Amino acid sequence: MKNILLPTGKSLPAVGVGTWHMGESASMRVKEQESIRFAIDLGYRVFDTAEMYGEGGAETLLGQAISEALRSNVVARDQLFIVSKVFPNNANPARMISACDQSRKRLQLEHIDLYLLQWPSAHPLEETVAGFESLQSLGWIHDWGVSNFDTQNMQALRSVAGGEHCAINQVYYSVANRGPEFDLLPWQKRHSIPMMAYSPLDQGGLVNRSSLVEITERLSASSAQVALAWLISRQSVMVIPKSQDKSRLRENFEAVDLSHR
Ligand code: NAP
Repeated sequence: MKNILLPTGKSLPAVGVGTWHMGESASMRVKEQESIRFAIDLGYRVFDTAEMYGEGGAETLLGQAISEALRSNVVARDQLFIVSKVFPNNANPARMISACDQSRKRLQLEHIDLYLLQWPSAHPLEETVAGFESLQSLGWIHDWGVSNFDTQNMQALRSVAGGEHCAINQVYYSVANRGPEFDLLPWQKRHSIPMMAYSPLDQGGLVNRSSLVEITERLSASSAQVALAWLISRQSVMVIPKSQDKSRLRENFEAVDLSHR
């Protein structure tokens, strides 16, 4: 498995699992929980969620699947890398304490490995960075980062005291949406900040895309695998495709092998 190196020194696998639209419906709960457990059994170690997803439902679901896997010794806590996000309205020190504590409780975890600001907030960046630092002092989060930040946002963050400790930027990046390549990706490379690509399959839109068919035939791979492998093969880029289907989870996991071909 290709790994991504965070500026803080932590290394994590280049393929994880997203959880958007999970934890929204009670009737889907068992299937969704089984899919997360299957993903852990398969070898996925990075899981992305947010306090916003299912209004906490996705964190709860993920927490249940993780605690079951930890109890049955399928995986150790230090092998997992759990990412969650604070809602922008909650991104000042006072509100972040409460938001993060609720996320920890839903996830049934002492700490969150990587805590992100979900998108730029009306709260001053100084306050958000101070909030992240307080959470780190409490031991509730290890690394912190941002999401949906453009180059200007990243520059503004860099000018704030402590802003240089940002570990990652999670943005919409796919073979059909290469906007980040204009200036954001080069800027992040210059500052050694990796990119976590969300919606790497364009929310399913890249599956069976005719423009990818020639490549899929040549590589004997699916178009989802080609779309993911294309991103993974980029330096310091990782992907978090969401699937609650066991065969698609396997397919996405194996995309990393394709990125070596
Ligand atoms: P995505 O991962 O690009 O696509 C997910 C969709 O593709 C689902 O409908 C899934 O259906 C389907 N799919 C997955 N693997 C497939 C495969 N191999 N073949 C065919 N279909 C496949 O979209 P996303 O969920 O928007 O993005 C991924 C994650 O990024 C999210 O879950 C979330 O954790 C994160 N995200 C973050 C932000 C942000 O603002 N920071 C925004 C959007 C997303 P099945 O489940 O039925 O397989």
